[in-house]
Amino acid sequence: QREGRSLRERGNLLRRQITNPGVRLDLNGGGSLEIPATAEIERDRVSSLTRPQLVEEARAVKVALSSIEEAEARLAGEMEALALAMPNLTSETTPRGHEPRVLSYINDHPEQAPSPSDRVWRSHVHIGTELGVLDFASAATASGWGWYYLLDEAAEMEQALVSYAMATATRAGWRQVSPPSMVYSHIAAACGFQPRDASGETQIYTVAQSAEDAARGKPELCMAGTAEIPLAGMKANTTLDEDQLPLKRVAVSRCYRAEAGARGVDTKGLYRVHEFTKVEMFAWSEPDADAADDLFNEMVDLQTEMLESLGLHCRVLEMPTGDLGASAIRKCDIEAYFPSRRERNEGWGEVTSASICTDYQTRRLATRAKIGGKLVYPWTVNGTAMAVPRVLAALLENGWNEEEMSVTIPEVLRPWMDGKEKIGSKR
Ligand code: AMP
Repeated sequence: QREGRSLRERGNLLRRQITNPGVRLDLNGGGSLEIPATAEIERDRVSSLTRPQLVEEARAVKVALSSIEEAEARLAGEMEALALAMPNLTSETTPRGHEPRVLSYINDHPEQAPSPSDRVWRSHVHIGTELGVLDFASAATASGWGWYYLLDEAAEMEQALVSYAMATATRAGWRQVSPPSMVYSHIAAACGFQPRDASGETQIYTVAQSAEDAARGKPELCMAGTAEIPLAGMKANTTLDEDQLPLKRVAVSRCYRAEAGARGVDTKGLYRVHEFTKVEMFAWSEPDADAADDLFNEMVDLQTEMLESLGLHCRVLEMPTGDLGASAIRKCDIEAYFPSRRERNEGWGEVTSASICTDYQTRRLATRAKIGGKLVYPWTVNGTAMAVPRVLAALLENGWNEEEMSVTIPEVLRPWMDGKEKIGSKR
């Protein structure tokens, strides 16, 4: 805000200097320029000049103008960068600081469930490799750290989780979209996803541009980190009708994350990877807290219903200010119990997230709604329906049977897996 204020002051000074003839204007990049006199004085002065003098002066004005335009473009860029870096406000419900508030448990707290010490717990990396359904070694050769192959039942389970989530959301009135995987970087930034975070780390993969395209000023493309971006972007520069609201969309997409700052943590397995499949819900509501809350609660209820039916032990969290990100005014995460994470965060690992973004995204994307004849900015709400690899990892770890060397497939997924009940023993 301080930087914004100082920029605005600089802008006002520039404006004063431009409208006050005879003032010397200091250019940002160095040098200065005298602002010419007002129109009438200027007319008198110019009429007394000879043709060669006029040509000379025109040339000088052209040079001066180009440096002013450069300074103006630079300042406009700085102002836009500052405006884009400004986060949303915070809701009253959000805990201040870095500690989330536990709202509820799904399928009991694991401490009340069969005690972890009664069973042999294995990591999904061990189980998946043992059963021959996860292959990290080949991925390391083909693509490097953070990539993986899902094989046989794991690949089938990915499709089953997607189908189950899409069917559940569609039944609840969420209309399906198949979105693009690449979006313009300025659309991602408008949604609150900066190419670089505060530490300067690149979180988004940008697509290399040819020198020709860059020279032509073609906008840069990036890989969407979540379907939230192409879904929000779908209504950029658009006016929605009142009777379209709430507009509820659900999409399955591949998500791309550089995860640069995370190097060193979760380096093994499916927990934090560079590319994954996710089903995402996205909605536009009237600009009204009750309307947005209804959608938000509907999302959290759907997330709860699906995780409960998968038999995972979970906890629902009201996320603190330190975890809100740029666009959310309120965020609830659901964490599942991963035996392999017992040493870290007592086994909890985030599997879904839901956020209310008020008009943060629609203002930047110029998405409007006509309500009662008035143009307003609708609010947006987004939430994970199914983040495949993390849920798959939790299902492998929680469904593991050491004696049988098998993993039990949750009943709700079996219709999409040819009725299979287990991921079988050693191949
Ligand atoms: P986000 O869009 O960052 O709120 O993440 C939504 C969900 O996607 C999270 O709750 C995770 O389940 C999942 N997720 C996020 N980042 C990754 C990643 N790098 N690898 C695997 N899953 C992820």
